[in-house]
Amino acid sequence: MIGPDAAVVDLHMHTTASDGTLAPADLIRTCAGAGVALCAVTDHDTVAGLGAATEAAAAEGIRVIPGVELSAAWEGRTIHVVGLGFDPAAAALTALLAEVDGLRRRRAQEIAARLDKLGLPGSGILAHLGASDPRSVVTRTHFARELAGRGVVADPGSAFRRFLARGRPAYVRGTWPELGAVIDALRDGGGVAVLAHPLRYTLSAGQRRRLVADFAHRGGTGLEVVTGGQSREQTEAAAGLCLRAGLEGSVGSDCHDPSLPWQRPGRLAKLPPAIAPIWRRWQADPANPPESSA
Ligand code: AMP
Ligand code: MN
Ligand code: MN
Ligand code: MN
Repeated sequence: MIGPDAAVVDLHMHTTASDGTLAPADLIRTCAGAGVALCAVTDHDTVAGLGAATEAAAAEGIRVIPGVELSAAWEGRTIHVVGLGFDPAAAALTALLAEVDGLRRRRAQEIAARLDKLGLPGSGILAHLGASDPRSVVTRTHFARELAGRGVVADPGSAFRRFLARGRPAYVRGTWPELGAVIDALRDGGGVAVLAHPLRYTLSAGQRRRLVADFAHRGGTGLEVVTGGQSREQTEAAAGLCLRAGLEGSVGSDCHDPSLPWQRPGRLAKLPPAIAPIWRRWQADPANPPESSA
């Protein structure tokens, strides 16, 4: 029998509810095929995929806990917070998601307008996205894929580099809720907050330590010590940040497209043994998972 320490865990993945390529049920089936025992679907600023994911997980015999990746503001920068184990119907979280939905819609219109000004089909892309999948949260990834699909750029990465990344002409900064408000909403809903991919933000070493300390101080519980495509040195650096701030550790592929080898669900480095796995709380009593009725 596989003990809890050997179980394959992946607590950060995306579906078509935001900017992933697979529908929630298909992602869960991919996870089951990859031997994942415990996972979380963590779409950007939406819990719309959780119902289908939970149903599929029951059919596949694997565990999925409620998840979300929330966009947050910290000192004027965008930071991502993975929320885990909350009640998806909790009032404060529902209100926060509704607010961010409005922010994202207005931002998507602004991105489209900027692309239009560049002579690119921004409005056309936005109309197409709304018509093809009206329930999906619209991210920059959607614009990037459409620009690539329409032959404007060779691939989505080029769309970011030329138009959508910070400092490029169609970049529109998100006006996200403050970090403290995001953590509070998750905790109000009975969940925990995890600072996502801590090494991916453009920060000095000192700023990064301050971000992690501030996150812990405001009630954050975990740090994503292992993320997809990370080197051993990076995992060690993230582990150092985690231990220094007294946070629990999380692991997640940040999978958007399982067909990409570096994003395969569950294909992750082990959490260093000095760090307490944040998922212990959901393994303690498998017969009675907290708030898994999503
Ligand atoms: P948004 O939340 O709308 O700003 O979109 C952010 C998403 O865009 C991230 O979650 C990534 O999936 C994707 N993304 C951001 N920067 C890049 C990049 N340089 N290349 C490819 N994808 C990116
Ligand atoms: Mn994304
Ligand atoms: Mn992220
Ligand atoms: Mn993500």
